[in-house]
Amino acid sequence: MRRKIIAGNWKMNMTPSEAKELVATLKDLVNNPEVDVVYCVPAIDIVPVVEAVKGTNVEVGAENMYIEEKGAYTGEIAPAMIVDAGAKYVIIGHSERREYFNETDEFLNKKVLKAFEHGLTPILCCGESLEQREAGVTLDWIRLQIKSDLQNVTAEQAASMVIAYEPIWAIGTGRTATTEQAEEVCKAIRETIAEIYDAATAESIRIQYGGSMNAKNCDELLAQPNIDGGLIGGASLKPDFGRIVNYQK
Ligand code: PEP
Repeated sequence: MRRKIIAGNWKMNMTPSEAKELVATLKDLVNNPEVDVVYCVPAIDIVPVVEAVKGTNVEVGAENMYIEEKGAYTGEIAPAMIVDAGAKYVIIGHSERREYFNETDEFLNKKVLKAFEHGLTPILCCGESLEQREAGVTLDWIRLQIKSDLQNVTAEQAASMVIAYEPIWAIGTGRTATTEQAEEVCKAIRETIAEIYDAATAESIRIQYGGSMNAKNCDELLAQPNIDGGLIGGASLKPDFGRIVNYQK
């Protein structure tokens, strides 16, 4: 049985002082021993948030990472820095990085491999645009993203990672995918993993839905057989996040 994983993506929000306050506000609300809870935070917040969540069930993740070990890459953050700061997860390939920072599948594949090299668990994002959904190419597009991003990733590594299905048109728009749309794509992702690897790997990998998930729609989405959690943007900065972590079965 896969454990649910609910991760917040804080995006470019929260100064270090605000981050500590938010962790304190959410502390008693995100207590659910049956669920893995992760705060993916801006690089500058990793150290204070790791400190602030000590003694709780919450793990910390980075929102991004570079593919090199160290050196002349001004402004970038190396995987070893993330690990040393105490984070365990890293979001890779969020649609905002794909769109605004031109991150390609080839580049993201390097990031996925690099994260594993350092023992970080990737939360790999994929998702289609509204035009692609309307053109009926969603499933083909998602399969292509997954296959490209997982080149040379072993079955054992894939089994331990997280994939977040995030339709671009649903991110930050308040427009959630219907339960059927979300389940259809998450199921197709699992089938793609079975095709690349095997049934056991597909059974182990955790697949999240992300895109305007909130306190109101989380119960139905999280009840779907192929949705193992959520990647939450806007609602992760509010007490609503606690309601999602404590979704009703
Ligand atoms: C996200 O940024 O990954 C996300 C899903 O955002 P939101 O929940 O705000 O749509």
